[in-house]
Amino acid sequence: MYIKPLSLPEEIRQLQALLGRLPEEHEKRPLIEKDLAKQLRGFKGEKALAYYLDFLPEKDFYIFHNLRLPTGKYHFQLDFLILTARYIFIPECKNFFGTLVFDEPFKQLIRVMNNEEEGFQDPVSQAKWHKKQLQDWRGLNHFPSDVPIGFLVVISDPATIIKAVPNSPETRRHVVHAQVFLERMHELMKGCKREVFDHKALRKLSKKLLNSHVPNNTNLLGKYNLSVSELTRGVQCPECGRFPMKRKHGTWECPYCHTKDKNAHIHALYDYFLLVNSSITNKKFRDFAGIGSEDTATRLLTKAKLPFSGENRHRIYFKPKNMEILR
Ligand SMILES: [Zn+2]
Repeated sequence: MYIKPLSLPEEIRQLQALLGRLPEEHEKRPLIEKDLAKQLRGFKGEKALAYYLDFLPEKDFYIFHNLRLPTGKYHFQLDFLILTARYIFIPECKNFFGTLVFDEPFKQLIRVMNNEEEGFQDPVSQAKWHKKQLQDWRGLNHFPSDVPIGFLVVISDPATIIKAVPNSPETRRHVVHAQVFLERMHELMKGCKREVFDHKALRKLSKKLLNSHVPNNTNLLGKYNLSVSELTRGVQCPECGRFPMKRKHGTWECPYCHTKDKNAHIHALYDYFLLVNSSITNKKFRDFAGIGSEDTATRLLTKAKLPFSGENRHRIYFKPKNMEILR
């Protein structure tokens, strides 16, 4: 069963919000579009593995998608984590085109496509590093250290060809196509027969993992060296995608396609939180969404039921923990 369900990663939401507000002719669009395509491809790979994870018995396998956990100064991010009474398992998803050559002696991955070679970080070393980080997290949070942690690198596209140079026992053991994942996981963990966690301990660890998750909030404007002023202001029409909708008789109306939508400003709020800041004031909201009246902005912000601090004019509204509630 999913404890932290499969959902579109925050990085993808941010990139989509950025492209939604960057003018068509902006010079940085091609680079950002390329980065988004790469992230979407990664997510597609995760969804491909999720299909197989659905075949695991619900009550014995606790699944977390996209966990980002702190270990002291740094964080580490796991595509998936599988928790059982007998072991913990980390599938490391990779979605590559072409032929992959695992060069284990040199700890590198070579991707061959259209007769060209490209080098990547060795995913087996990466998965091992994640295992080590999870052990550190476990130690910091005082969970028993005698629970075995297994891992596999999962190549999600069945058309990707996996090859290994001679003398690559780890690659042969730890790299699989998605459709072989379950079989190999059970094979690797079949020696782990002792039930270390009872039901209560599993629930406790699950809760701790969930509460420790820190969403990855990249400063995208900083990353691409963009300023807020380069973003298109206003409320976007949900139907034709054009800016800005006009506020008329308590609703938003598109001057181009005449679509009416009472809640179209929520999307602007959502974009602001994803791209600019995790808190907003009445003034900042008016500037960003193109709202003339302070009273209207107050009404809309109050109705959005955001967490806030301060009173009246000094009120600051915060990004909700789960932005789905804004939709
Ligand atoms: Zn429209």
